[in-house]
Amino acid sequence: MKLIRWGKSGNEKPGLQLADGRNVVVPEALGDYDESFFAEGRLEALRAWSEREGAEAIEIASDARLGPPVCRPSKIICVGLNYSDHAKESGMPVPDEPVLFFKSTTAFQGPSDDLVIPTGSTKTDWEVELAVVIGRQAKRVSLESALDHVVGYMLHNDYSEREWQLEKSGQWVKGKSADTFAPCGPWLVTRDEIPDPSDLNLWLKVNGEFKQQGNTRNFIFDVPTVVSYISHFMTLLPGDIISTGTPPGVGLGCNPPQYLKPGDVIELGIDGLGTQRQLAAAEDAPDC
Ligand code: ZN
Repeated sequence: MKLIRWGKSGNEKPGLQLADGRNVVVPEALGDYDESFFAEGRLEALRAWSEREGAEAIEIASDARLGPPVCRPSKIICVGLNYSDHAKESGMPVPDEPVLFFKSTTAFQGPSDDLVIPTGSTKTDWEVELAVVIGRQAKRVSLESALDHVVGYMLHNDYSEREWQLEKSGQWVKGKSADTFAPCGPWLVTRDEIPDPSDLNLWLKVNGEFKQQGNTRNFIFDVPTVVSYISHFMTLLPGDIISTGTPPGVGLGCNPPQYLKPGDVIELGIDGLGTQRQLAAAEDAPDC
């Protein structure tokens, strides 16, 4: 299934994309796609409803805004330097264990919303990534059972302010967390539709020019490994997001480095997970 959320930012409603490509409204009784939706097994109720009545459901206007396909999660955890060739372009050694960092959940937004380059930023950069969504609480889970805790996958652009990430002291979180820095979607695609998350092409273009073209087979740490590994340090709740790192071709790795400016158009996609398009905009002057 392809879960979507649609409507105005902050007031999205749950929906579904049917196999024929139509987006339809889901009964409110099934609830929004949040922690309790997944924890209480309502995904199976959604599947049963979809098979029974989905084809006759009310269609969503084709120009309706899509929001992120799950509600704001308790955590967005990112894996850094998870493609050996990206580690090389960043001038970093291939890590022995997954590099982890947090991204603020307030960075979360829909797949076609503008990227707002934050005031003071001169090094806003792109990172196409496969994001994993947790469906069942995971605490110290084994490698073998890790995928049982994953409900599905979505496309994520892990926007990064490189000066704030790398040139200020302390953790990467500073450069990863500005508003609009975590567009997700268009869909949460359930795991049954993505049998092998370690064989997906992913790409990103800026102003129509390919910048990133990779495949998840180049992961240093695959999906079961990162889910199991992270669950030994913290409890993963249903709806939580793990972003699995980016392939080569980020702006930081260009010679000379290339960063985003207002007016740039960023497009990205992953096999089976749809595409995103963002327009880069300058931040409005803050209210005083
Ligand atoms: Zn990243």
